[in-house]
Amino acid sequence: MDIIAIVGRPNVGKSTLYNRLIGEKQSIVDDQSGVTRDRQYGQSHWNGKEFAVVDTGGFVRNSEDVFEAAIRDQVEIAIDEAKVIIFMVDVSTGVTDLDQQIARMLRKTNKPVFLAVNKVDNQTRQLEAAEFWSMGFTETHNLSSVTGSGTGDLLDAVVEHITNFVEEESTIPQIAIVGQPNAGKSSFINALLGEERNIVTEIAGTTRDSINSYYNKFGHEFNLIDTAGIRKKAKVYENLEFYSVMRAIRAIEKSDVVVLLIDAADGVESQDLAIFRIAQKRNKGIVIAVNKWDLVLDKETNTTRDVEIKTRERFAPFTDLPIIFMSVLEKQRIMKTVEAAMKTYENRTRRIPTSKLNDVMQAAMARYAPPNHRGREISIKYVVQLPIAYPAFAFYCNHPQHMKDSYKHYLENQLRENFDFTGVPISIFFRKK
Ligand code: GDP
Ligand code: GDP
Repeated sequence: MDIIAIVGRPNVGKSTLYNRLIGEKQSIVDDQSGVTRDRQYGQSHWNGKEFAVVDTGGFVRNSEDVFEAAIRDQVEIAIDEAKVIIFMVDVSTGVTDLDQQIARMLRKTNKPVFLAVNKVDNQTRQLEAAEFWSMGFTETHNLSSVTGSGTGDLLDAVVEHITNFVEEESTIPQIAIVGQPNAGKSSFINALLGEERNIVTEIAGTTRDSINSYYNKFGHEFNLIDTAGIRKKAKVYENLEFYSVMRAIRAIEKSDVVVLLIDAADGVESQDLAIFRIAQKRNKGIVIAVNKWDLVLDKETNTTRDVEIKTRERFAPFTDLPIIFMSVLEKQRIMKTVEAAMKTYENRTRRIPTSKLNDVMQAAMARYAPPNHRGREISIKYVVQLPIAYPAFAFYCNHPQHMKDSYKHYLENQLRENFDFTGVPISIFFRKK
């Protein structure tokens, strides 16, 4: 799926536009249990084109001091990762120095850049907006993110550059290896492939796409997708919070299953959770591999079981996950991680025959019926699994709008208890019958 990145200095209105772009689809996204909304990444569609939107500002704290270097990185990453860039400025402040700096960076890319002059809420501001033409972007659009005026025209032009997204049926499992810098991704890949892979060389302008490696050993065949080597050329980003997240997005997009490497010495951090949520939102299979387990010396007090429980809690409410404690250095449980990824792939492609599904779920609903809504009885007639790439179920019922979230959770738990969906997000929809 193509990515549209929104860049610009703080307070110009990036997140307001982001919310407007993502907002309408939110009800669908929310349909998936346990997914909280976050500001950085979401999907939407316009004129029949599907795309992802990244609000790069969502990763940077809005304090003026940290900020210039962070903005610079933000823009560079947007240039690397996005198909189209929306560069937002604010008519109420006029052109600022920082706007000029960002513009200089963006003029160097040959990706399409749309200058969005925001907060053009009225006629007077329409006139004031003219000054931004001096920045020299042929695609300059006036808009008001608050009222929505102008945003439709901007999107019409932007999605011209978006390639329509088709979920490809992969012939072999696509496994993405993601995680923060230094989690051990390269070491893991090298251990699997049994060779030192070439690190991408530092040549300006080379495409920094993810790397694919074919694996076929010990009865497992899959394609590895990783971004590990690429980092080496971009040391500057290493302290940047959102770097690993941005990097992970495209690898996640291409994958069926995501192996999220966590550094055992650091534990689960906010960036890890951000990557996790993106994979969850995209309905990918997920395996948590806690690497560098050899560094956890005090295994008496920190038993694997205790750490596992604590680690699992961090991913709540989606906790039906494989968690593997491995050490690439000591070659411990590397194959266990591979096996967990393959099992997760199998779980994600699992199709339950309709009759079996209904037998099991009718029994579950008989044990605990949907709660009434204001004295009205809510009943589910039957359930079908939808014919799509990941597990999704439609429950046909008399009053879909009155189904309680708690009941949805109950149904999900029942599906998980009766069929193996470990590591896989489940979508549940209620439809009118
Ligand atoms: P960000 O830091 O770039 O993400 O900016 P925000 O989206 O948080 O917006 C900063 C402020 O500008 C908020 O108070 C918004 O309500 C306001 N704002 C955003 N878009 C518009 C707009 O189109 N018109 C006006 N008048 N205010 C806006
Ligand atoms: P990447 O940035 O995620 O690709 O991480 P690397 O594979 O480059 O590893 C970062 C550092 O962690 C290197 O110095 C590795 O040798 C080290 N490392 C990787 N796996 C392990 C492990 O299981 N245990 C220990 N102690 N160190 C590891």
